[in-house]
Parts: sequence; structure tokens; C-alpha cells
Amino acid sequence: MPEILEVEMYRQAALPIVGRRVRSFQTDDTIVVKEALPIQTLVGSRVREVARHGKLLTIHFENGSIDLHFGMAGRIIVDGRSPIDELVYGASSNDRWIRFGIEFDQGFLAITDPRRFSRVAASRVHDDLGPDAFNPDLCDVVRRHLPKRGNIKGVLLNQGVVAGLGNMLVDEVLSRSRVDPRRDIATMKPQLIKKVFVTVVSVLPELLERGGSHMGDLAAELRKPGSGCPYDGHELARATVAGRTTYWCPRHQK
Ligand SMILES: [Zn+2]
Repeated sequence: MPEILEVEMYRQAALPIVGRRVRSFQTDDTIVVKEALPIQTLVGSRVREVARHGKLLTIHFENGSIDLHFGMAGRIIVDGRSPIDELVYGASSNDRWIRFGIEFDQGFLAITDPRRFSRVAASRVHDDLGPDAFNPDLCDVVRRHLPKRGNIKGVLLNQGVVAGLGNMLVDEVLSRSRVDPRRDIATMKPQLIKKVFVTVVSVLPELLERGGSHMGDLAAELRKPGSGCPYDGHELARATVAGRTTYWCPRHQK
């Protein structure tokens, strides 16, 4: 599933479209593109910027903007190339899975998505999103978004608290911070909460460098019953926490 790191790779892959003029939009998939008309009005407009906030990618044109959400399995294709060959949960670049496309005066951008959870729409104001997880000042700016209670895993997954973290990144952050994902934030001292967000800030560039959110120490291949902790070998615990399948080490995460 594309988390903030994958969408950041999509953003970087899309940078070559800046300055190009739109020749046409492919908007016929009515599940992925609910309202095509506001998008079609941007034909003839040039791309000014490709921006990202959390897992949301926004293409700014001269005359408006569109938001791209990649759902569970959406991938971006720019000029025939994808920045990631395969998501951990399996997408493919099969042509019949193209759900949205932009043809420019030169080249094209497309979204492929076998599961059709991607969404493309004219931009709106996203005041429901917390600060971007890549924000270097995250520890300070996240404070006013923190809830008083609730398990820490759910807090980190809440896009209104911090935008961009998904299931695998949150498990990685909590493993490195030595915090049990079920622990209620009400029981955590401010220093420990700060440690969790310091870890977010340090882990993202590291895993971006390694190649994605599945490349943590608590790697994708360890996410199965019977796996050992990458740090101390203790058998990992597994449960549904905050609605998501969660792995953690009962020995070093308290
Ligand atoms: Zn451990």
C-alpha cells in the first residue's frame, strides 16, 4: 500500500511534467474520477508544480489543481515508467488497470490501480490533515493535534494528527521507539511522545533511501506468524490494533 514514502517517490518521478501543457485528460473511470468536469476545464493549462502532503499528491496547473489519492494499490506511471516496480501488496502496470491519465504536449502521466481505490478530483482545502510527516519541525507542530487518549498506533495512523504514516511505517516507528502499539497515549510521558515523533523524523529519510516503507528493520518479510524481532530475536506478537494487523516485540516494546 502506498504510504508517504511511495507517494514521495511518485512526486519525484512526476517532476518532469512541470512546464508541460495538457492536451487531454482520461477521466472515464467513474469510480476513480467522480467529477470529471472540473478536471476537463484544465485542458490547455500548463503544470506549475507537483506537491505532496502526507499521502496526497497535488498537481498545480496555471488555472487550478487536482488531487491524486492512491488508495490501496495505486501506482503512478510517467512517460511509460513507474518509480516502483511492484508494491508489496501487489500492483501491476497492466494497461487495463489505467484509471486516470493526462496526455501532455509531450509525454503522459497515468494512474494504474487494479483495486480502484485511487481517487482523482479537483483540489479542495485539506484542513482535515495534520502536519506532513516529513516536516522537520514535526515534534513541535504535531503537539496541538495530539488527542488526550487512545492507543498510540491509532494516534499515528490518524491523518488528522500526522499526515502520511500507514500501517508498516507506524509499526517500524513504534519498534524503534520501544513502545507497545496498544499503549494509551494518556499513559505516556511527554518525553516518550517526543521520542516517537523524533523517530518518525529520522526513519522516513532512511527508509526512502532504502527503497520504501516495506524496507524497515521490521521488514515486510517478517510480517508473518513465528517471525523473530530483528533486534533481540524474541517472537513477534501479532494482533489487530486500531483496525490494522500489527506486529510488535513484547520484549523490547512496553
Ligand atoms: Zn525486540
